[in-house]
Amino acid sequence: MREYNVARRRMVDEQLRERGITNQAVLQAMAEVPRHLFVPPGLRHRAYAACALPIGFGQTISKPFTVGLMTALLELQGGERILEIGTGSGYQAAILSRLAAEVVTVERVIALADSARELLTAFECTNVSVRAADGLDGAPDRAPFDAIIVTACATEVPQEMVNQLADGGYLLLPLQRQNDQVLYRCQRHGEQLRVSASLPVGFVPLQTGLQEARASA
Ligand code: SAH
Repeated sequence: MREYNVARRRMVDEQLRERGITNQAVLQAMAEVPRHLFVPPGLRHRAYAACALPIGFGQTISKPFTVGLMTALLELQGGERILEIGTGSGYQAAILSRLAAEVVTVERVIALADSARELLTAFECTNVSVRAADGLDGAPDRAPFDAIIVTACATEVPQEMVNQLADGGYLLLPLQRQNDQVLYRCQRHGEQLRVSASLPVGFVPLQTGLQEARASA
């Protein structure tokens, strides 16, 4: 719909470009993916606002700037295999699918994984596979990953993610630090991780185990 296209163009200009995101491929992907279809129908009119929105089960779709920033920090060239922990709505995965070769995304709330899978299939994101599982285990059968992006807040760097990261690859994750959340970009060098960037963010917490509840909470 035309109003959504106008709102999406403004989102890219005002929330991304004017706030310092310059990566053309990221801007283009976010200009093309219909974010309003990844939020609950009752919230579509706010889909392009500069805020996170509830998607049910106590979870949220991240605000556009956070999605743009995290995607840009991955510095994707197009040939990468990426692991995302925290599929949520599937929006971040849809953006990544346009910028990388393969995306494996893991979600612990089965109902969210199901609806994201349906949406991503409808958008013909054929290079994305959605898994309902505890993302803390990663996806060992597809490792190593050129990049790993965690879209829920951890308290420490999960060792399994380091194990599944290719040498030279980036691990992007928010960590709880006292009362603040900080986004870290870590690059693997052999058995070491080098932290190269950090910014304040606000994510839902990373939880453990699979959640089978079907009712939205
Ligand atoms: N990237 C999402 C937003 C993520 S919200 C989007 O584009 O919409 C964070 C998501 O992480 C929630 O859906 C939550 O259920 C999920 N999550 C939290 N802990 C997890 C874990 N251990 N494994 C997999 N998913 C997890």
